[in-house]
Amino acid sequence: MERTAKIIDGKLVSQAVKDKVREDVLSLGEKGISVCLAVIIVGDNPASRTYVNNKKKACKAAGIISREYALDENTTQQELLELIDRLNKDSEVNGILCQLPLPQGLDEKAVIASISPEKDVDAFHAVNAGHIMIGDYSFLPCTPAGITEMLDYYGIEVASKNCTVIGRSNIVGKPMAMLLLKRNGTVTICHSATKNLADYTSRADILIAAVGKPNFVTADMVKDGAVVIDVGINRNSEGKLCGDVDFDAVSKKASYITPVPGGVGPMTIATLLKNTVTAAKLQNNL
Ligand code: NAP
Repeated sequence: MERTAKIIDGKLVSQAVKDKVREDVLSLGEKGISVCLAVIIVGDNPASRTYVNNKKKACKAAGIISREYALDENTTQQELLELIDRLNKDSEVNGILCQLPLPQGLDEKAVIASISPEKDVDAFHAVNAGHIMIGDYSFLPCTPAGITEMLDYYGIEVASKNCTVIGRSNIVGKPMAMLLLKRNGTVTICHSATKNLADYTSRADILIAAVGKPNFVTADMVKDGAVVIDVGINRNSEGKLCGDVDFDAVSKKASYITPVPGGVGPMTIATLLKNTVTAAKLQNNL
């Protein structure tokens, strides 16, 4: 039977999250507390520049102060770490974000480790990753938490469902699996060494694709009526933005699907804002 999947509208859901963030920022303001995010960008990667601009714009709309630190491509590891150290100690800064990827020669792991866990609003630091692992966290991993927020908005239950996550990165796949597990999903994680991938994807009631390859998930890999979440941000052969899922074909089989653009992407930024407010509250013992 051919169906048309309901579109999960990331713009709509992210606006609801951002409205709540704005309310929180206003009520903190009434207590004399301002909320500030420091955004570091190194070099001139155009995609990073777009992401940073979008984050700053979203901060402004939510009433969050954003301070940009745009560093030269030739910045040394020591200079970057010294900046982060200053921001860690700056009581006016609640959250610190260093846009990845960094130019060659800079050690991303060391940079992530240098951000104070209390200001690590991306939730990349090992301390925050550990909190996510034990299911007890203040900062939510931005993209996975945005996805659970969308599932909640559309009343999609996770408990007892077969959930398959394709991808095991530290920023998407692994924390996504942890959040689904916390909600009592039965979770399978697939990666590039998985054999017979379709065996796992076709059993999934909830399928999350975080691979980074256009049209990677085809309709034959998807169970009838599945919820399909497309995390990928790619360019197709015509240079058009697309996800990992063959949207046209899969949307005829799935019950719910996220589009690209307009799906997961806006949720990631909304969660970042939410984390920045959480940081400000925690730092003010609220
Ligand atoms: P990543 O670090 O490159 O991870 C990709 C994952 O896909 C890896 O775990 C890799 O497996 C797996 N993979 C690659 N080829 C595969 C195959 N043939 N079969 C099964 N698994 C395969 O990427 P990421 O940072 O997680 O991001 C994934 C995608 O999401 C990218 O397109 C990125 O741009 C996008 N993204 C979007 C947002 C958003 O806000 N919408 C946020 C973050 C990322 P191995 O581990 O074995 O290599």
